[in-house]
Amino acid sequence: KIKTGLAQMLKGGVIMDVVTAEQAIIAERAGACAVMALEKIPADMRASGNVCRMSDPKMIKEIMAAVSIPVMAKVRIGHTVEAQILEALEIDYIDESEVLTPADWSDHITKTDFKVPFVCGAKDLGEALRRIHEGAAMIRTKGEAGTGDVSEAVKHIKKIKSQIQYAINDLKTDAQLESFAKELRIPVSLLKQVIELKKLPVVNFAAGGVATPADAALLMQLGCDGVFVGSGIFKSKNPEKLAKAIVNATTNFEDPLKILEYSTDLGELMAGVSIESIKKNGN
Ligand code: PLP
Repeated sequence: KIKTGLAQMLKGGVIMDVVTAEQAIIAERAGACAVMALEKIPADMRASGNVCRMSDPKMIKEIMAAVSIPVMAKVRIGHTVEAQILEALEIDYIDESEVLTPADWSDHITKTDFKVPFVCGAKDLGEALRRIHEGAAMIRTKGEAGTGDVSEAVKHIKKIKSQIQYAINDLKTDAQLESFAKELRIPVSLLKQVIELKKLPVVNFAAGGVATPADAALLMQLGCDGVFVGSGIFKSKNPEKLAKAIVNATTNFEDPLKILEYSTDLGELMAGVSIESIKKNGN
């Protein structure tokens, strides 16, 4: 039984990357619904060029001890043993994350083998449903972590939405349903469930490049159930104020007057690196 309910509880919230107990406390005070404990935030991982693995359980434990909100931590794609270690640590959620270096290029973790709920990244409906079929309790867009450029996250949520709309509007016969399910490499029953619900059967968060209150609200307006913020907060000059502003903008995502207030006088934000410049430099 997949614990999708534990992920439903995070709906409407902001999950913040933290690398120390002090940052975790700031995140909790700012109203984060959970924190992601990791050694290096994605912007620094990206810059390092090293193999990125699960964080040391010692630092994860320190963060778990420092806050009362749920704690997530990342494992490499396909690294079943890193996940076993985090489950033994009694972590609240595991993120099987493309931000780390994949351990298996052909298979993801069989998440139905675990009791702890997993979140996984997706760029399109097929990826999202393959992860859900493997047992993911929650999906997030992959976006482009560590950049502060929101455009990939926007692309991914729009793609998932448009593919769901296509399935609802255009798949009329059993043969068409079978054929699309085959294309997505998922059971037809899962596709039928999406058509019936008109959305994914688990919560779907935005992630990868969210850096401002306006970014968070934009993704909420596009239909995301909540937001992950990685490098944006603690790479800015005033993390406490920005963290609170992003939480408030996520809650009040349909209120421009409030978002105006939350977006004002935040000080220097994460500089970021645009997707276009990454493409040009071939990274
Ligand atoms: N994303 C990353 C980062 C991967 O390493 C892999 C392969 O393991 C995939 C996606 C493949 O995902 P799928 O099975 O959905 O094609």
